[in-house]
Amino acid sequence: MQYEFKNKKITVMGLGLFGGGVGVAQFLARQGAHVTVTDLRNVTELSPSLKQLEGLPISYKLGGHHEEDFTNADMVIVNPAVPKNSKFIQIARNNHVTIDTEINIFFKLCPAPIIGITGSNGKSTTTTLSGKILQETTRKTWIGGNIGKSLLGSLEEMKPTDVVVLELSSFQLEELNNTKKSPHISVVTNISPNHLDRHANMDEYIQAKKAIVLHQNSGDCAILNYDDPELRRWEKDCKGHVLWYSAKQALANGAFIKNNDLVISVNGQNTAIPCVSSVKIPGIHNLQNVLAASCAAYLAGARKQHIEKAVTTFTGLEHRLEFVREVNGVKYYNDSKATTPESSIAAIVAFQAPVILIAGGYDKGSSFREFAEACARNTKSVVLIGKTAGKINELILEKKGKKETPSVCLQKTFEEAFLQANALAKAGDVVLLSPACASYDMFINYEHRGRQFKDMVQAL
Ligand code: ADP
Repeated sequence: MQYEFKNKKITVMGLGLFGGGVGVAQFLARQGAHVTVTDLRNVTELSPSLKQLEGLPISYKLGGHHEEDFTNADMVIVNPAVPKNSKFIQIARNNHVTIDTEINIFFKLCPAPIIGITGSNGKSTTTTLSGKILQETTRKTWIGGNIGKSLLGSLEEMKPTDVVVLELSSFQLEELNNTKKSPHISVVTNISPNHLDRHANMDEYIQAKKAIVLHQNSGDCAILNYDDPELRRWEKDCKGHVLWYSAKQALANGAFIKNNDLVISVNGQNTAIPCVSSVKIPGIHNLQNVLAASCAAYLAGARKQHIEKAVTTFTGLEHRLEFVREVNGVKYYNDSKATTPESSIAAIVAFQAPVILIAGGYDKGSSFREFAEACARNTKSVVLIGKTAGKINELILEKKGKKETPSVCLQKTFEEAFLQANALAKAGDVVLLSPACASYDMFINYEHRGRQFKDMVQAL
């Protein structure tokens, strides 16, 4: 190993609830490091993560950070959720303590080629599907990263002939810039304003995402969405081969749709896979995800039969346009993971049937103009909750002008919003939870929100 962790004093800053903190703490403790885990949250809030660390020799400083863990350490592992301007990171830096991240360590130690997937929306869906296609082949496939699973603990089992599919967030990529590493095959699904409460501005967010192509070698590949105006500008920054995918037009090098065929075009050779009408995940945006995943898996060795099998059997992930149930002719969909305006727009336009939308939530600083326009054009009613409700309401009213639909109303609680949506729904309608916002103002996370919605639907 290029790193020696044994007997090193290492502070893990930010345990979190998404798997990365747990993964790195487990890994370091098993390598023989003296690990201290510190987090602003307390024992109760972190209990699901703490359970996974039971029995390991780890010290805990929870409910706040302490300076000595940043001055008296050999290394600090920073969770991607920690703000860059944290005074404790500065303290570590001033004391010449090495700062690193879980994903950077993984990139340095991983023996297998990595497919890295990022984008503002569609990362988890594309990552899971790429993994599922590759699992149809004989190549051992590992799936992890921002999707909620650290692969550090699997490093010892990994072989150079395996393949790794990693979901990468902008925060993870920002740190990857410091180690000058990019995946061997990179996929970017789209770029739209996101996390502008954490990134200083759009340029900084784009620059963070670009780490996925900036440090590739000439033999590496970048697979980019041709339908995204920002990504079309990226070719000049790519160091490897560029392949494009589009749900709208045929392309010479990459992936596209022709009638019922998903076509993969690589080195002048076209592979047509007749499967488009059998794709089960709804919406054009999901066809884009299918194209990206198929192209990445193809470059990693998957062939027609593997792609066809996985693409036609994949029913999508929980909380992403997830069909819950039909009651009295009304179909209920849980899209709680739609935490950006663009992802909710994709959901609204995926339906032919009249949509009664439940939206609103925590304010990440997104612009809701286009979202309000999509609501005004494509929904029957909108029921709003949370911090952003007032702002979205005003914009929809402005966009719909004198039109009667959509009707818009604000509700205080999630339950009231659900009851209201239900009262408005008639047979043939769709009740869609697709909030366009994060959930932190009313829920623990998007999963909590999605589960509550599904419970209410099941109770009907
Ligand atoms: P991410 O991991 O980037 O958050 P997910 O696959 O978990 O992406 O999907 C999150 C939300 O975005 C879901 O509501 C989903 O319906 C929507 N979505 C998925 N793919 C796309 C896409 N390519 N473009 C726009 N929205 C998308």
